[in-house]
Amino acid sequence: MPVYTSDALILRTYKLGEADRIVVFLTRDRGKKRGVARGARRARSKFIGTLEPLTRAGVAYYERELRDLVRINYVEPQSSPLAAIGRAQGDAAALGHAAYFAELIDEWAPEAHADERLYRLGASVIDALAGGAAVPRLARYFEFWLLRLQGVYPQVSSCPGCGGAFDGGAVMPPRDSHYLCRRCVPAAGGTTLSIEALRFLRSAAACAPEALDGVALDEAPARELETVHRRLIHVHLEKELKSARVLREISQESHGSRGADLRVSHGAHAFEPGRQPTD
Ligand SMILES: [Zn+2]
Repeated sequence: MPVYTSDALILRTYKLGEADRIVVFLTRDRGKKRGVARGARRARSKFIGTLEPLTRAGVAYYERELRDLVRINYVEPQSSPLAAIGRAQGDAAALGHAAYFAELIDEWAPEAHADERLYRLGASVIDALAGGAAVPRLARYFEFWLLRLQGVYPQVSSCPGCGGAFDGGAVMPPRDSHYLCRRCVPAAGGTTLSIEALRFLRSAAACAPEALDGVALDEAPARELETVHRRLIHVHLEKELKSARVLREISQESHGSRGADLRVSHGAHAFEPGRQPTD
């Protein structure tokens, strides 16, 4: 049985049998893998606290001939969303976003071959999150880069309709997935992007996530970007992500009951340290 040790991102886990878990992880060098973590649900398991979605870790695993499922030997966390607890704006928001980023990577990661750029994006985002980066800004940055790496992010340098600059902001017409300037856009509405939102995208194109704290993004342009990115993700994945629904609920609860302990009040969707949110 060949043994491999890889830098990897934990993407998600699910239960197997009485005490085990299946772990889906993206390796830097050999693409996405699925493996069995034996005894991972036992109280004293060596895997406790290591399998939170988006954990960056060294993973050692055996490949078995003619089997798709590998056997996980150990997981050695290097950067964990659990480190963001108590440092980011809200524990629930930080862990919820880690799960959201992990689910997006899982959706887009190819099964059989390495995608080093996607790995590096995930690894740098978890490092920024664990280091206490502002969560909404990091989320818009991550969506922008993820869609860009897939080659589906619309042009932001100039309007594809007329070649002119987006000097008055941009509009994503309804049922379209590109940006047009206000001169080219048909009358029937669409989703608008302000100059501030476009400026953020241009900065995001040129900076690493740990430098994002120096890039301005107010609440209104952040909401515009969230809306257009949700549309783009929906168009390209043709579905809504489970973690995106959870994030919306977290956001509604935090607006409705400021100061409440979201991890307790959130019931079935609780994101607690040492507990896997994908149960
Ligand atoms: Zn135009």
